Amino acid sequence: MPELPEVEALALDLKGRLLDRAITRIDLAAFSALKTFDPPLHSLHGTLVEDVTRHGKFLDITASGTHLVMHLARAGWVRWRDEVPALPARPNSKNPLAARIVIDDPDSDTQPGLDVTEAGTKKSLAIYVVRDPQDVPGIARLGPDPLDDAFTIDVLSQILQSEGRKQIKGVLRHQGTIAGIGNAYSDELLHAARMSPYKPANALTDDELQGLYDAIRGVLGAAVERSRGLHASELKGEKKTNLAVHGRAGEKCPVCGDVVREVSFADSSLQYCATCQTGGKPLADRRMSRLLK
Ligand SMILES: [Zn+2]
Repeated sequence: MPELPEVEALALDLKGRLLDRAITRIDLAAFSALKTFDPPLHSLHGTLVEDVTRHGKFLDITASGTHLVMHLARAGWVRWRDEVPALPARPNSKNPLAARIVIDDPDSDTQPGLDVTEAGTKKSLAIYVVRDPQDVPGIARLGPDPLDDAFTIDVLSQILQSEGRKQIKGVLRHQGTIAGIGNAYSDELLHAARMSPYKPANALTDDELQGLYDAIRGVLGAAVERSRGLHASELKGEKKTNLAVHGRAGEKCPVCGDVVREVSFADSSLQYCATCQTGGKPLADRRMSRLLK
């Protein structure tokens, strides 16, 4: 799933390609992806792109005052094409194409465009056409952005106190608490902070709070820096190469050489290093032990 650094880099890449250009038309290939009806999708036809930004993990293409907002979900992606087919994209359940945004190029006979795709059978990619990004419920609910200047260590401290004894892993990836951090980066920044994913949110010492804050800003900031200037097609590989523990169960921890372990967590699994994060003690797989009772 694209998280804050990838969506930030996507927004930058797309801004460079789309700014001041006109949207010729948008073909919707997966009808279920469009979550709004007013303004209609075709109201964007002929509009000029003014900005491309990010809200948490939502991508926002602003054109003539209207916002085309996309949430790429788990398996969604955006692909730039120098030339898209002249015929409109048709709905096809076997095709990963969810929507195609055709861009006007006055200097060429062919038209470039953006393909919005979603792999797999579980379709959760969402597209919204709104007058104000806050009209998207998922954006209205977002917590503060961790790379914003206003996200100080005091803000983090207050958030963690208000979450009580909830496990820190779940708190970090909850979009309404802090925006933009998902399953991958919550694993990564807990590893960087040398903190157990099960640590209760309100039980951090001052040093641990500082360590977690530095990890959030450091890990996310470095990922954004690395991704800046990369094309959409390069971002996924870039993310994977630089993850220390996420998705690397069975491999060696790059810090201490211990094996990276995995336990189930909520709807997926998390990866961590016992030596770096839990005093060498492997975490109990709570879902598994519950099943065995
Ligand atoms: Zn380690």
